[in-house]
Amino acid sequence: MVSMKIQFLGSGVAIPWPGRVQSGIAVETENGRLLLFDCGAGVLQRLFESGRDPRDVDAIILTHLHLDHVADVLPLLKSRWLCEKSDCVIYGPHGTRDWLDGLIGLYPYLQGRFDLCVTELTPGRQITLDGSDCRLSCAAGVHSVPSLGYRLEDGGKIMVYAGDTQPCDSLMELAQGADVLIHECSFPLGFDVDCHTTPEMLEPYLDKLDVGKLYLTHLYPQMQGREQEALEYLRSRFKGEVHIASDLLEIDP
Ligand SMILES: [Zn+2]
Ligand SMILES: [Zn+2]
Repeated sequence: MVSMKIQFLGSGVAIPWPGRVQSGIAVETENGRLLLFDCGAGVLQRLFESGRDPRDVDAIILTHLHLDHVADVLPLLKSRWLCEKSDCVIYGPHGTRDWLDGLIGLYPYLQGRFDLCVTELTPGRQITLDGSDCRLSCAAGVHSVPSLGYRLEDGGKIMVYAGDTQPCDSLMELAQGADVLIHECSFPLGFDVDCHTTPEMLEPYLDKLDVGKLYLTHLYPQMQGREQEALEYLRSRFKGEVHIASDLLEIDP
C-alpha cells in the first residue's frame, strides 16, 4: 500500500501568471481514492496533465465559493458526464448546494444530467469519507466570504489545507501535528492586506506551529521574484521545512 500522495494542480490565483493556474490540489489516499481540493480555472486541464482522467476523482472538496477555487467544477462534471460518469461527491461550505443548483440552472442542457451528493460542512465538523478510512475535519478561515480549511488524516499521515485566509488561531489549531500544512501566501513581505496572507502575517504563529513541512500556495503575481525572500524569511523563523508550491509538484507528506 502506498501512503498519501499530494500533487498541486494549480498554485495561482484569479490573475493569470505563466505556469500557475488557479487553485487545485489532488490527494491520493492510501487506498487509492482521489480527492480534489478546490477546482479553479485550469485545474481540469492540469488533472489531465497529471496523468489522470476526470472520472478518477472520487470527491471534490471545496474551501469556499470564490471563482478561482470553483470555476472548473462544472466543466469537470460535464467532462465526466460526457464520459458516462454522472455521479459525483462534493463537500463544501454552507451555500455549496444553492450555488451548484443555480449554476447548473443556467445551462438547461445540463439539467438532470448529474447525480450529485453534496454535503455542506460547518466549522468543527469531522467526517469519515465514504469508502475509505480517511478522516476529514474542518475549521473556519478568515476570508472575505465563509471559507473552510481542511485536515485530512489517512494512513498515519496528516495534511492540512488552509484555503484562502489570513493566518488565524482556528486553522493553526487544525494544523497542529500535521505532516504537511499547505497555507496560502498570496502576497510578499511588506504588502498590506487582510483576508489573505503575507510571510510576516505567518510569523507570530511559527514558534508554536508543530508541522513538518509548510508549503506556500495561492501566489498573486505580486509574489513574482519575491519567492526566495519569502522562503528565507520563513525558514529563519520556522523549525520545519518551508517550500513554495508549483503546478504539478508532487509531494510525500
Ligand atoms: Zn478567496
Ligand atoms: Zn483564491
